[in-house]
Amino acid sequence: MQHHFIANQHQPASSGHTLPVIDPSDGQAYDAIQRGTPADIDRAVQAARACYEGTWQKLNAAERGRLLMRLSQKVAEHAEELALIEQRDCGKPTKQARADAAALARYFEFYSGACDKLHGETIPYLDGYSVLTWREPHGVTGHVIPWNYPMQIFGRSVGGALAAGNVCVIKPSEDACLSLLRVAQLAAECGFPAGAINIVTGYGHEVGDALARHPGIDHISFTGSPRVGTLIEQAAAERHCPVTLELGGKSPQILFEDADLDAALPMVVNAIVQNAGQTCSAGSRLLVQESIYEQVLERLADAFSRLRVGPAPLDLDVGPLIRASQQQRVWDFLADAQVAGIQMVAQGQIVDEAPDTGFYQAPTLLRDVPIDHRLAQEEVFGPVLAAMSFRDEDHAVQLANATPFGLVTGIWTRDGGRQLRMARRVRAGQIFINNYGAGGGVELPFGGYRASGHGREKGFEALYGFTVLKTVAIRHG
Ligand code: NAD
Repeated sequence: MQHHFIANQHQPASSGHTLPVIDPSDGQAYDAIQRGTPADIDRAVQAARACYEGTWQKLNAAERGRLLMRLSQKVAEHAEELALIEQRDCGKPTKQARADAAALARYFEFYSGACDKLHGETIPYLDGYSVLTWREPHGVTGHVIPWNYPMQIFGRSVGGALAAGNVCVIKPSEDACLSLLRVAQLAAECGFPAGAINIVTGYGHEVGDALARHPGIDHISFTGSPRVGTLIEQAAAERHCPVTLELGGKSPQILFEDADLDAALPMVVNAIVQNAGQTCSAGSRLLVQESIYEQVLERLADAFSRLRVGPAPLDLDVGPLIRASQQQRVWDFLADAQVAGIQMVAQGQIVDEAPDTGFYQAPTLLRDVPIDHRLAQEEVFGPVLAAMSFRDEDHAVQLANATPFGLVTGIWTRDGGRQLRMARRVRAGQIFINNYGAGGGVELPFGGYRASGHGREKGFEALYGFTVLKTVAIRHG
C-alpha cells in the first residue's frame, strides 16, 4: 500500500479511500495508492509554503545545486530499482524503463549545475540611475504529471523548478505514480528539507483540479492532454496564476526524395513504436515525396510486420498500452479508418506469451490517410502511423502545418537549403533534421505551438519560466 508523500512523511488520504495499481502487462491489480482529496492538497501546499519560507529560502543557489547533485547520484544508484517499478506500473519494456531512470538522474545532474548560473542583468539607463534585474522563484509550484513518462517528466519539471528556487507539490497520474513516490523518498534521504517535494496521488478531477485552484500555488506546470490543459488554464486564470502547458502532438516525419532512407526508416519506425506510441512527440504522421512513396511503404511494411509486442519484462519492440480505455481508444481510431476505407499496409505481431488480460496493440501502418481525417488530425496515443504523400516543398509545409498541433517535426533531406527553408516554415517547437529526437537531450528546450501548449521546459530555458523577473531601479545621482 502506497501513501502520499507530504513533508517527508508517508501520509494516508483524508478520504480513507485507495485506488488500485494495475499492471498493464496482465491487467491485474498488484498494489494500491491513496485517493487524495482537496484537503490533502491543502496539507501539501501548507507544508511546501512552510518549507519555502523557512529552510528553503535560506539555502543559497550552490547549496541547492549540491542537493540536486546528491539526488542525481542517488537516483543513479537506485536506477535498476526505479526502472523495475516503472516497468510494472507503466508496462515499459526494460530498455525504455532503464532509459527513463537514466534520464531522471541526468535531469537532476543538469539542473544541479544550473542553480548558480541563473542570474539577472544590469541595464544601462539614465544618468544617475543603476538598474538591475533579479530572477526570483515563484514560490510554491504545482506539477501535474501524466502516466507515459512519469520519471522523465518529473525530472524536467520538478528538477527545473527546484533549481530555480521553488518548492513543489506534485500530482502524478492515477495510472502511474509509484516511481515518483520512491524518488521523493530518496530526495528526503539526500537531505531535501521537509516540504520541498510533496506528492499527492489520486484522480485528476479531484486532486489535480484542487491543485490548479489552490490559492497557495504560485505557478503550475501541466503535462498532459489538450482537453485537461484547457481546464487547468481556466482554473489558473481565475487567480492569474502563470501556467506552462506541455500538451499533445501529431508530429510529422517528412521524407524528401533525396533522403538517406537507410538512416531515416529505422527512426520513422522507432518514433511511432517507442513507448507503444504513447509519447507526446511520437512521429505519428509520415509525409513522403510522391516519387519514393511506394518504395518507402514497401520497406516500412516489412519493418512493421517484424515488430513484436508483448509483456514489458520480455523487452520486445513494443509493450502494452497503459490501460483498457487507452486500448479501446486505439481500436476506435482503427475502426474509423476501416469505415473510411483507409488501407492498412502492415501490422506487427502480439506474441503468444502476452496474456489476454493485458492491453496490447500491434503497431499499425496506414496509407493515403486524408489530411482532414481524424487519423491525420488527432492524437491516437498508440502505435499507429498515418502515411500520406506530397508533391513538393510547398505541399509538404502545407500538410505539416495542417493540424492544430505543433510540437515536433522531423525533416529528412540532404539538401542544405531545403533543410533550413523547411525548418523555418514548419510550425513546431522542435525541428530535427536528418534525425528524430536527437537522443532526447535534457539540454534541449522543449514545448509546443498552439494546441501543443506554451512555455518551454528542459534546458536552461526552463529556468526562465520557473522564475519571475523583478526590475530594481536605483536613483543615486
Ligand atoms: P491527461 O490530460 O488525461 O492527464 C494528465 C494529468 O492530468 C494526470 O495526472 C491526470 O490525473 C490529471 N488530470 C486529469 N483531469 C484533470 C483535471 N480536471 N484537473 C487537473 N488535473 C487533471 O493526460 P494523460 O492521458 O495522462 O497523458 C497523455 C497526454 O499527455 C497526451 O495528450 C500527451 O501528448 C500528453 N503529453 C505531453 C507531453 C509534452 O511534454 N508535451 C509529454 C507527455 C504527455
